[in-house]
Amino acid sequence: MEKINLIEECKDAKSIVISGHIRPDGDCIGSCMAMYLYLKKALADTRITVCLEKPADIFHCIKDIDEVDSGFCAKTPDVFIALDCEQSRLGEAAALFDGAKKRINIDHHVSNEGGCGDVNYVVPGLSSTAELVYELIDKSYMDEEIAKAVYIGIIHDTGIFKYSNTSPKTLRIAADLLEYGFDFPAIIDETFYEKTYVQNQLLGRALLESIVFMDGKCIVSAINQKILSFYNATPGDLDGIVNQLRIIKGVECAIFMYETGNLEYKISLRSSKYVDVSKVAAYFGGGGHVRAAGCNMSGNFHDVVNNISRQIARQIKEYDEK
Ligand code: 5GP
Ligand code: MN
Repeated sequence: MEKINLIEECKDAKSIVISGHIRPDGDCIGSCMAMYLYLKKALADTRITVCLEKPADIFHCIKDIDEVDSGFCAKTPDVFIALDCEQSRLGEAAALFDGAKKRINIDHHVSNEGGCGDVNYVVPGLSSTAELVYELIDKSYMDEEIAKAVYIGIIHDTGIFKYSNTSPKTLRIAADLLEYGFDFPAIIDETFYEKTYVQNQLLGRALLESIVFMDGKCIVSAINQKILSFYNATPGDLDGIVNQLRIIKGVECAIFMYETGNLEYKISLRSSKYVDVSKVAAYFGGGGHVRAAGCNMSGNFHDVVNNISRQIARQIKEYDEK
């Protein structure tokens, strides 16, 4: 897909809203903030707002993160920039997207083929939306704060450069970013590795109560609402659990689910080598990437697990027969 000229696309706009997906992760937040910091510099006379659900406290190191409009109070803009998602995952920002004069979509999800905007820059399989944002930035505006936001986006979607979506180009971009001199070891610790006591307790519970099946190729664990409220935790406190399940020796596919309502689950899927979890998630109306995807499902724990594992088993069988 052809690169887009952001400044050209936005130069006549009086107002711009930048937004991303519900339950924003590091890539979504890093991309939105890098875009925000960049456009604020490049288009000084334009009213620019980032509309996102409240970013987790770990992202406080990003410049101007407290300017995020988490109440979605912004007015319908001339240009809406949707980052790291398709239209259906914009949540409360969807109304602003619908009314905008021009919609720009920048994303790397395979499930968003072609893009949902009037102008699209969607490159499936790329490490992160932050990598795409970096590509589109006029480098004469780059500075330490923009570099930091891009870096946070990239490390969160690549598991700090270790998932298969990390390319030589991703690492070259990371090298360029380090030239700006931000404190990257602190950022990695603060935004990626550090967990609160409660988060670790929930991880412990999820591991203890996990179930392996399909000869150890699959693992599932669930956290219900009772447990979440017992620990006074939010869904954000469950980030990373699915990755810990996935790295268990022999596991090809990890399923982590938490209850969002009565008999309603948010599902996270991860795979190691060959199961395409974006296909599994898409089958149930969700989406994502080949190695990391998600969806929402209804039913009791056993029904949900049965339904998902049938789709996973199909792929494992196909692979085993090859
Ligand atoms: P996570 O398991 O961390 O929530 O999500 C993994 C990946 O799948 C992320 O890239 C996320 O954006 C995507 N994803 C998660 N849930 C959904 C969903 O319900 N629909 C779509 N389209 N993508 C999802
Ligand atoms: Mn992403």
